[in-house]
Amino acid sequence: MLEVKGLSVAYGAIEAVKDVSFTVAEGQIVCLVGANGAGKSTTLRTISGLLRPLHGEILFRRRSIHQLPAHAILAAGIAHCPEGRRLFGGMTVEENLLLGAHLRRDRDIEKDAALVYDLFPVLGQRRTQRAGLFSGGEQQMVAIGRAMMARPKLLMFDEPTMGLSPIMSQQILDTIAVLRGRGTTILMVEQNALAALTLADHGYVIDLGRTTLSGPAGRLLADPRVREAYLG
Ligand code: ATP
Repeated sequence: MLEVKGLSVAYGAIEAVKDVSFTVAEGQIVCLVGANGAGKSTTLRTISGLLRPLHGEILFRRRSIHQLPAHAILAAGIAHCPEGRRLFGGMTVEENLLLGAHLRRDRDIEKDAALVYDLFPVLGQRRTQRAGLFSGGEQQMVAIGRAMMARPKLLMFDEPTMGLSPIMSQQILDTIAVLRGRGTTILMVEQNALAALTLADHGYVIDLGRTTLSGPAGRLLADPRVREAYLG
């Protein structure tokens, strides 16, 4: 579904991503693991069209997308649940969800909001409250709901459990598994490599801007190099 080939991305003189390549097959959960600053968020932001690559190629469903503007990439079927959630705190849950559907012109938007409330009943109960008043975990639910409202084929999560309690983290990871079960392909970046690789089908290790290791998630979990560097 997604192919990233030889990607490099710079912020001015800083080359944050030097040579990243990976693929995401339809229906899979693929996880990128790596230390802080390895270039994982930069990779996701480039796929979303928020940054332009210096070199390399990004293909989505065999179509080159790395020159497209962000709204066209969203319209093509890629949604991004960003690091830090980036909600509009002064707006209600309902309004944040509608923002996720801003490119849609069909009549099923309300129905999809009901699906989000089904998945996260607390959001349904508090739909008219401002999102900024919510706990971190609840805000993450709103961010996931907002991304779902775009009806993406590929959903990217950047550090979805950051700052959350172990119980809330597990709930968010369980939700990601549910979304995959409903047919959404998932690409995720997660500091908690153990949890992420336990959930994922396939993993890639990114080190200093380069993909250095890859394989089925179970094999990476057992790899001594991964264990030593990322699993403590
Ligand atoms: P983290 O988990 O800490 O977000 P990461 O693997 O996602 O790590 P990136 O956020 O992609 O890493 O950052 C890669 C490199 O790019 C780092 O050296 C970082 O300092 C640098 N960087 C990130 N954003 C910017 C920016 N807006 N301007 C300049 N440098 C940046």
